[in-house]
Amino acid sequence: MTFVAPHQKARALKPGSRRPAKELCSECGLCDTHYIHYVKEACAFLNQQIAALEATFHGRSRDLDNENELYFGVHQQMIAARKKEPIEGAQWTGIVSAIACTMLTQGKVEGVVCVQNTKEDRFQPMPILATTPEEILAARVNKPTLSPNLSILEQIEKSGMKRVLAIGVGCQIQALRTVEKKLGLEKLYVLGTPCVDNVTREGLQKFLDTTSRSPETVVHYEFMQDFQVHFKHEDGSVEKVPFFGLKTNQLKDVFAPSCLSCFDYVNSLADLVVGYMGAPFGWQWLVVRNDTGQEMLDLVWEQLETQAVMSKGDRHQAVQQSIPAYDKGVTLPMWAAKLMGVVIEKIGPKGLEYARFSIDSHFTRNYLYLKRNYPKKLESQVPEYAQKIVNQYKLPE
Ligand code: FAD
Ligand code: SF4
Repeated sequence: MTFVAPHQKARALKPGSRRPAKELCSECGLCDTHYIHYVKEACAFLNQQIAALEATFHGRSRDLDNENELYFGVHQQMIAARKKEPIEGAQWTGIVSAIACTMLTQGKVEGVVCVQNTKEDRFQPMPILATTPEEILAARVNKPTLSPNLSILEQIEKSGMKRVLAIGVGCQIQALRTVEKKLGLEKLYVLGTPCVDNVTREGLQKFLDTTSRSPETVVHYEFMQDFQVHFKHEDGSVEKVPFFGLKTNQLKDVFAPSCLSCFDYVNSLADLVVGYMGAPFGWQWLVVRNDTGQEMLDLVWEQLETQAVMSKGDRHQAVQQSIPAYDKGVTLPMWAAKLMGVVIEKIGPKGLEYARFSIDSHFTRNYLYLKRNYPKKLESQVPEYAQKIVNQYKLPE
């Protein structure tokens, strides 16, 4: 195993002086390496170029007149799946870790870029270039904080590896795709997860302290399809807090400015995306974008139970109502938030419609954030598909 202590190199730099995206930097790690040379082209926050990179890596950019492509990007197929034998301690059932382990043991790749945590802190990301299944499994579960995955790029180069799998979120993958050809690899496989509302380590602490009954024992959390945040604690208990009861007024500035300016929720440039939000509760949601993605999925097919994706309900009204509520930082009393959560779960959007609900809510919020804070970036940072999605709603000034 080779690893880079988080921000080891960055510490030697003058803060901000080598982060050309400045406060919009998501700490993707590129600028910790000599690939900083390509930052103006590669950085997701300096040069949003999703449509062009889709064409390069998937053979075409998304069809804006097809609702599923408009929302979920270029794809050959979407399915709901779960591991027949879930991996203990994974974020969901461990499909990501299973694919990575299988690719390594079958010799498809020599190394896997993934994220373990530091010894001292379960939520502090520590990117590694894993060369054994044990190291990949030790990287299972989300570190829900900005992670400098691309700080590994120089290690890949020095390792002499020719076939590598990279696991990462959208901003990391956009930068990676831009410099991919310069890495000297024969084949790079890209396994993405969706990502939204990421935070710095300090931001995460504030979120946990404000929201959970026992912040120090949280091992895992997820914003679930039942409109509640599920916190899993060390003793195995699960604490549920309704979205509508979150202390929005205190949490508004918790999310990283990069994530409030991002429109690549669904990781448009990965070969295969594994998330949960387009699948029924308890299942994972898989988006196969190209033949490489299908090749990766085929490797673990026998390990999976699958079902077709479904879609139910109409999100539009709920999204429209949530826009001013979020904007004003409205927090409902807990009894009302719980009641609202129960009602929405019964009649609210399900499956792909839930995923569209989440995308609409985040894109409208982020559009307003950019418009108010970085008006000059609005035109270049908002992809055409996102503009079309946002145009469905009435936004406050
Ligand atoms: P596991 O087998 O547990 O593997 C998790 C993998 O994630 C590991 O390989 C690890 O290397 C990688 N990883 C962990 N932390 C990070 C990080 N900070 N940056 C990059 N890679 C990391 N899915 C949705 O459908 N909707 C969402 O809104 C959503 N938000 C997410 C936000 C974050 C910050 C992350 C990391 C993921 C998010 N996901 C989201 C994806 C989802 O939570 C699961 O990660 C995914 O479904 C895979 O589950 P699994 O059990 O197969 O993963
Ligand atoms: Fe550099 Fe990545 Fe930050 Fe952009 S997001 S400035 S590429 S570290």
